[in-house]
Amino acid sequence: MITGKNYIGNRQSAEGGKVYRTFNPQLNIENETGFTEATSNEIDAAVTLASKAFETYKNISGIKKAEFLNTIAEEILALGDILIQTYCVESGLPEGRAIGERGRTIGQLKSFADALVEGSWVEATIDTAQPERQPMPKSDIRKMLIPIGPVVVFGASNFPLAFSTAGGDTASALASGCPVIVKSHPMHSGTGELVSSAIIKAAQKAGMPDGVFSNLNGSGIEVGQQLVKHPKVKAVGFTGSYKGGKALFDLAAQRDEPIPVFAEMGSINPVVLLPEALKTKGDTLAKTYAGSISLGTGQFCTKPGLLLGIKSDALSGFIQNLSEEILKIEPTCMLHPNIYETYNSNKKKAISQHGIEVLADYPSDTKPNHAKQTVATVKGDVFLKNTSLHQEVFGPYSIVVQCENENQLEKVILNLEGQLTGTIMADENEITRYSKVIAALQNKVGRIIFNGVPTGVEVCPSMMHGGPFPASTDSRFTAIGVHAIKRWVRPFSYQDWPNKLLPEALKNENPLGINRYIDGIQTKNKL
Ligand code: NAP
Repeated sequence: MITGKNYIGNRQSAEGGKVYRTFNPQLNIENETGFTEATSNEIDAAVTLASKAFETYKNISGIKKAEFLNTIAEEILALGDILIQTYCVESGLPEGRAIGERGRTIGQLKSFADALVEGSWVEATIDTAQPERQPMPKSDIRKMLIPIGPVVVFGASNFPLAFSTAGGDTASALASGCPVIVKSHPMHSGTGELVSSAIIKAAQKAGMPDGVFSNLNGSGIEVGQQLVKHPKVKAVGFTGSYKGGKALFDLAAQRDEPIPVFAEMGSINPVVLLPEALKTKGDTLAKTYAGSISLGTGQFCTKPGLLLGIKSDALSGFIQNLSEEILKIEPTCMLHPNIYETYNSNKKKAISQHGIEVLADYPSDTKPNHAKQTVATVKGDVFLKNTSLHQEVFGPYSIVVQCENENQLEKVILNLEGQLTGTIMADENEITRYSKVIAALQNKVGRIIFNGVPTGVEVCPSMMHGGPFPASTDSRFTAIGVHAIKRWVRPFSYQDWPNKLLPEALKNENPLGINRYIDGIQTKNKL
């Protein structure tokens, strides 16, 4: 049952903050349950409890934490249909998507649990003592990764499960040994509360300290800002817009004790259409890209919002086909009237710029909150001069840039901001021929795709989901896959520490049986 209350550790609380409701965009009406915003008192209580829980939780074994994560996965599944129904009425997304995203969320939790059971993720590194070394003896030094402290997590509107309450940020932070305080997304607070109830149940079943997880409601930016400013918070995970991520990053940097903010933000995901590929597969490419641009009503951070090509008959043909294909797609519902309005105003701003030609704009009336898909085009020199065209338009919109030649194409890429992904549509020998273009793209992105689409992000250890600023605030880390855990830890060294007092991961006997570096050699051996 959804109560509209906050979770302060195991306790539900509603001290009388402002009440807000979520919205059903398909029916264009507010949902029933009112959610009570967390007060300053509740925010402080949740963070103080998390800080206390950290003292115990940081020392809990990997096996026990894995049990906790696996139990969260089971409890999310045990929520059954109510979770799927709530997800759908709060997002307007179809049931199939909800079920798929639940599977992804559960899969993420389990993959972190597996990494904890295996144990080598702590990067145990041992350099043995050399008492006879001249001119100075060398100490025994042992290093591993340890958790950083309470983490605040902000989820995005477009992933009510996989990038929200028990999404990748929460799963990776809990796996690392950090308690989590979630600032619930106001567009899907009911989904958030249900998932929170599953996490709390799992925490109690697995014997985790009270405060290892809290969930706070808020319809505006104040709750999140107070959380980021709280001195006991040690890191922030954010998925959402550039505006939100950058504001929180700046806020964290202004604290007396600045803390890291790992913000995964929007991106326009350039796609480079090389001439031979356009000649040989232009028709199928147009259909594939019409689908990718409008997938999930264009509400993906990996949506291809920028298509780059060199002027040719083949490019003109592709543009024509893309315009026809995208208009064949039935408009679908956006997540919320605010997102729908922002889509329309950002699109209007983009297509009203000098030199922009609209190629396709869905002509008929649509149901409320259903987005009309649009494709525009512009010449390379205009795009180079007007950086406002580089901004993300969150929704089914994309722009094709027609460059004069290879040099201009390279210049356009060099002039772009950091991106989550870059895609090359090419014949294999064009990869060598256009090596400068490809090198330019590699400098701008976190993931490069060959002859595919950027939408659809596999969850696996080799995935990099992030990229140079402003795609993320720290291009050294991924938000997806088990290596996402590295955002919530810090390296810590023990010097000449007695063996019996060392953590298990660093003891001579290697009781966890993990991979370690001993004097520069990777081994599972004992010392
Ligand atoms: P959003 O408006 O930035 O909201 C995300 C969260 O941040 C919400 O909880 C929001 O709270 C909070 N927030 C926003 N501005 C804030 C501020 N100044 N101070 C404190 N809190 C603030 O983003 P969204 O509309 O939910 O999501 C869509 C965006 O997310 C798109 O740009 C998309 O590309 C991006 N996205 C990125 C990824 C990725 O992995 N890179 C994945 C999914 C989505 P309030 O709503 O209460 O303000």
